[in-house]
Amino acid sequence: MSGGDNLEFEIRPNPAPVAASERAALLANPGFGRIFTDHMVTVRYADGKGWYDARVEPRAPIPMDPAAAVLHYAQEIFEGLKAYKMADGGVAMFRPDANALRFVKSAERMAMPPLAPAAFLQSLREIIRIDQDWIPQSDEGSLYLRPYAFASEVFLGVRPALEYLYLVIASPVGAYFSGGIKPVSVWATPDYTRAAPGGTGAAKCGGNYAAGLSAQADAIEHGCDQVVYLDAVERKYVDELGGMNVFFVLDDGSLATPPLTGTILPGITRDSVIKLAERAGHQVVERPVSLDEWREGAASGRIREAFACGTAAVITPIGTIKSLDGEFTVADGGSGEVTMALRKQLVDIQRGRAADPFGWVH
Ligand code: PMP
Repeated sequence: MSGGDNLEFEIRPNPAPVAASERAALLANPGFGRIFTDHMVTVRYADGKGWYDARVEPRAPIPMDPAAAVLHYAQEIFEGLKAYKMADGGVAMFRPDANALRFVKSAERMAMPPLAPAAFLQSLREIIRIDQDWIPQSDEGSLYLRPYAFASEVFLGVRPALEYLYLVIASPVGAYFSGGIKPVSVWATPDYTRAAPGGTGAAKCGGNYAAGLSAQADAIEHGCDQVVYLDAVERKYVDELGGMNVFFVLDDGSLATPPLTGTILPGITRDSVIKLAERAGHQVVERPVSLDEWREGAASGRIREAFACGTAAVITPIGTIKSLDGEFTVADGGSGEVTMALRKQLVDIQRGRAADPFGWVH
């Protein structure tokens, strides 16, 4: 069940937007997550009232009571997706309906009131419309959209809050890979797990990311770009990276990826890769893959390629894997053929350079 199907957004344009010349300078080199557009979306929720007071308004700090529940018990969820300039000059989002559904699922897991997918999608369209001049024109740039919701009720009791705030902010981002696609190295952390059965691994809640920061810091200390988590029960099977799902390409042309058993995030890129790979004639098997299988497969040639996938980097080859047992490489530490072909297919659909057989581009 979700609410807010018939929300009307009140539009309050920013009376003092960033000047065009300044915006152009910012867009020339946006980086990631530091520059924001002129507006934000806000929608309130109160028990008994439902979702109400939907607005597009000037981006500004939000007043927050020191006892707001989210600051104490982290009842918070979010999403992340991109709006692009298409080959034909139009603006598109990639599978925003899938983000809307995942946002409902995350809300349910965190005992929050779900926002209706129709209202979620409308909120994205509203901010894109009013801030469309902030979408980078470059081939690789995009406008990263960050919808999120949190418990705003002023109360220190431990129970689901009765008041929430939903927001959307938008941030222009540049090419993820400046200077070409570089395989990532991963640290198989022996110390930390990301999510246990029955936990919050399948929800996109802020707490999952807070809990992963120590592991990510360790990865960097071990000279790796990212952490790869193993399952919390046997500490054997690959779950996912800190912010991306994982795929393996086998020597028979099939792909393997960890199954959605509740401990990993059901990535929208993951789902898209499965469909694209099957369309290209690869068999895709959702099954547990152990770190041992990965190491032995890399040595024997049974596992030819490995890649990570997610909204930010789309598809990234995994070159080097480090663990307490030492270090090994896949595809000689480079970019595999199947990986790069899938990446091209996906990016071409996203950018409107190829047909969209699944109706993913909105
Ligand atoms: N796993 C985690 C933990 C993530 O944060 C993300 C990024 N949202 C993903 C996987 C990939 O998900 P998506 O393809 O929907 O971006």
